[in-house]
Amino acid sequence: MLEHTAITFDDVLLIPAYNHYESRRLVDIGMQDRTEKLRLDLPIITSNMDTITESAMANYVGKKGGMGALHRFISIEDNVKEFKKCEYPVFVSIGCTEQELERAAALFEAGAGYFCIDVAHAHAKYVGKTLKRLRGVIKENACILAGNVASYAGADFLASCGADMIKAGIGGGSVCSTRIKTGFGVPMLTLIKECARADRSVVADGGIRTAGDIVKALAFGADFVMLGGMFAGTEPTPGDIVTDENGKQVKLYRGMASQEAQEAFMGTMHEWKTAEGVATKVPYRNDQDNIVADIIGGLRSGLTYGGSKTIRELQRKLNYIIVSNASRIESLPRNAIQFGYMPC
Ligand code: IMP
Repeated sequence: MLEHTAITFDDVLLIPAYNHYESRRLVDIGMQDRTEKLRLDLPIITSNMDTITESAMANYVGKKGGMGALHRFISIEDNVKEFKKCEYPVFVSIGCTEQELERAAALFEAGAGYFCIDVAHAHAKYVGKTLKRLRGVIKENACILAGNVASYAGADFLASCGADMIKAGIGGGSVCSTRIKTGFGVPMLTLIKECARADRSVVADGGIRTAGDIVKALAFGADFVMLGGMFAGTEPTPGDIVTDENGKQVKLYRGMASQEAQEAFMGTMHEWKTAEGVATKVPYRNDQDNIVADIIGGLRSGLTYGGSKTIRELQRKLNYIIVSNASRIESLPRNAIQFGYMPC
């Protein structure tokens, strides 16, 4: 049990450290996971949500040095077709039912090497069983990312059941209502620090809104970040562009546990369940290149502020301060609204 106050992105700022490198062009923003199964030039993975990642997004982010995680909310046949449209590597996702192991087998047969077991609360007996069974279906050198968890115990459990990487985050997502509906969750930076104590690479998932949040997540021990909301509405996301009642072009962004998503994939929202996500319309944007450029620039600059040539060095040198509300306001440019970012 954590007995201290938990913290998230806006609670802290990183303290600059002596920079002994000549230029931010010399830093390495790539990352190799701790089991050495995955190396990315840009440590971002787009969310396995039906409004974020299908093959178009996976190919887009892959070309930029990151990676896509295909969602699993389609038939196995269509999933295989989507996978075949992707240039490698790409994550494919599976749940924990018998049918989902068939999905894994079909995708493995089609050449998939990166699997993501994705459930809302993965510190669970049935997830451990699925992990072990999945390892039997795919080769030893295939990579399994498993989650989501919110504690060291959860991360350690998944590692002991055979996960190569841990997807960490409960309740922080921009279309998530888990903390409101259930009272459970852990603020993201404390959660990342806790999960990174397990001997596996952590993918920080949920609540990341800016390049600065990415730098903080990595500094606190995540080796990769998963992004949904930051790419919501962009051109490579799945879904139609529609014109809303104000004449604005919008796209749908929805939580996979929202009523809308549940009805779309299960046919109905079961009466024994409550929605733990929301659906929202976001402005259509064709500015994904700017988003990625901002992330790359922020990461390079962040590493030099941290006096670090690599993300691992940034993690070793973690030095931060908890900030007041007045400090938070001071951090914002005067035209913060333009960035879609408001003080809380
Ligand atoms: P974002 O980057 O803050 O938008 O968060 C994206 C993450 O939210 C995803 O990668 C999932 O882990 C999580 N997520 C997606 N759908 C739901 C939901 O319906 N409820 C809770 N969390 C969700």
